[in-house]
Amino acid sequence: MDSHDKLTELFSHFPGIGPRQAKRFVYFLMNKPTSYIKDLIQNIEFMKSSTIECKNCHRFFIDRNKSNRSSICTICSDESRENSVIMIVARDSDLESIEKSNAYKGQYFILGGTIPILDKEPEKRVRLKQLLNTVNENNEIKEVIISMNTTPEGENTGNIIEEAMKDIIVKKGIKITHLGRGLSTGAELEYADGETIRSALKNRS
Ligand SMILES: [Zn+2]
Repeated sequence: MDSHDKLTELFSHFPGIGPRQAKRFVYFLMNKPTSYIKDLIQNIEFMKSSTIECKNCHRFFIDRNKSNRSSICTICSDESRENSVIMIVARDSDLESIEKSNAYKGQYFILGGTIPILDKEPEKRVRLKQLLNTVNENNEIKEVIISMNTTPEGENTGNIIEEAMKDIIVKKGIKITHLGRGLSTGAELEYADGETIRSALKNRS
């Protein structure tokens, strides 16, 4: 495989990018001056080396001071937030959208993806084990809000995590609610506006 094919393959793994678009990216880069390519490489490397995964919520954040002292993000270390509610979202972009709505002041857990229907090994796709540990070990949690897109894959993911948490929830007397029950079918959290999220949160059940 030459570098042209290899790059096409790498770009085709980007979200929403197919092989044709991936090829267009490669041609785009071929036409760019060397300075642009260097800038791109440097920034990708810098972004990666300064990004930390929060050990509480598993969200990725940029350590601007490069302190490496703490691997807890600003949301998890904010003492004014409620500790009794934890919201499970699929991706960092969903969390951003919920934060922008200003309607939620609890904790988060980022699953790191969704589970396709009929998938045989969901624990390999998302942080299912870590989620169970978090809910099991944290005695302050009184409510878990499952916040998935109201797409078939989002609903499948919600069902699987609810089933996996069943025993812990019963044992600890935790309430489970679904944000999606306040959203219309097919809604994607990443694109939902603040008003939609506020009303979905209010109507969660
Ligand atoms: Zn965090």
